[in-house]
Amino acid sequence: MQQNKQIKNIFVDRQVKNLPQVERILSQLQPLPVQVVDTVEEIKEDLCLSPDPIAESKKVLFLTREKSVIRPCPCTQGCVCCHYWTLDLNLNCPLDCSYCILQAYLNLQPLTLAVNQEDLQVELDTFFSRQNGEVLRIGTGELGDSLALDSISGQASLLAGLVGGRKRVWLELKTKTAGIDSLMAMPAPENVVLAWSLNSKRIINSEEGGSANFEERLRAAFRAVEQGYRVAFHLDPIIYYSDWEREYEDIIVELLKKIPGEALAWVSLGTLRFPAKLREIARWRFPQSMIYEGEFIRSWDGKFRYPRPLRLKLYEKFKKIFQEYGLSHKLYLCMESSEVWREFLGQNKKGKLYTSPFCWLD
Ligand code: SF4
Repeated sequence: MQQNKQIKNIFVDRQVKNLPQVERILSQLQPLPVQVVDTVEEIKEDLCLSPDPIAESKKVLFLTREKSVIRPCPCTQGCVCCHYWTLDLNLNCPLDCSYCILQAYLNLQPLTLAVNQEDLQVELDTFFSRQNGEVLRIGTGELGDSLALDSISGQASLLAGLVGGRKRVWLELKTKTAGIDSLMAMPAPENVVLAWSLNSKRIINSEEGGSANFEERLRAAFRAVEQGYRVAFHLDPIIYYSDWEREYEDIIVELLKKIPGEALAWVSLGTLRFPAKLREIARWRFPQSMIYEGEFIRSWDGKFRYPRPLRLKLYEKFKKIFQEYGLSHKLYLCMESSEVWREFLGQNKKGKLYTSPFCWLD
């Protein structure tokens, strides 16, 4: 599915209306109506009149100037940090997952693309010049899908070109689409990792609106490997339901049979978690979804999670499958407490917690 096909309206920030990138993007979206605005608030005023402003916000494209921000991943209070950095260039996502946290975080933000590409290089150079030689993992998939709008923005190959070849820096582009054409048209930089969020086929079909199906994602990942990329996978959010064990095992086995272990950069595991506000919004927007109806506890950071024994049971099952393929060392947990990490790794309660599946990056 081409995510840009759902765009119905385009707004251009007056500050960027004469940039050549804007002209290039608009020419691909003709004959959609285009309006020049002075602030995003003008767009939000219209969005809030829609019966489902979140769904509407995914049909409206806003081209603007944004200061790209590289910051340590906010993770969540009290969790073991995986030392990830996020690079926020765009805001909002054309896909529509029932569990998407952006529904609760973004306040009527249209699909916002930063088009001031010339500033990006300067900002990246400045950021890298301040680093002390530590290994950095950076990703753009925090506030939207890294590749969903790439066919019109061309950002992925631009970024891969800017970061490719830098020592001790890894760029991760994370997606639920199969939109990797622009990256396939260039030689694979060694330090660019293409990553797919995966779920059981049932969850993909019922909860991940507008995304590529499992087979399409896996085919795209295999294509990336053939091109020379390392790939990563995020099994997140893992959902507990009656057939979870068989259905997750099926997709992991399919994945591990198709993708050679040496091409796997890392695999994260994370169970469903959400703030109360998201559940409220999602129950209204996705009344058919059952994922919020299980048993949850309110955890240390205020988010709801499955009870700890259940989370461990899910993680153990996934670990066992990866162990059978000799690949459990590539796993890490996303947004989990040190207690769960220790049990997952079989470490005792004393001593330093050793969590990193990334030591091979050094
Ligand atoms: S792909 Fe990610 S950012 Fe986009 S709607 Fe789904 S969870 Fe949200």
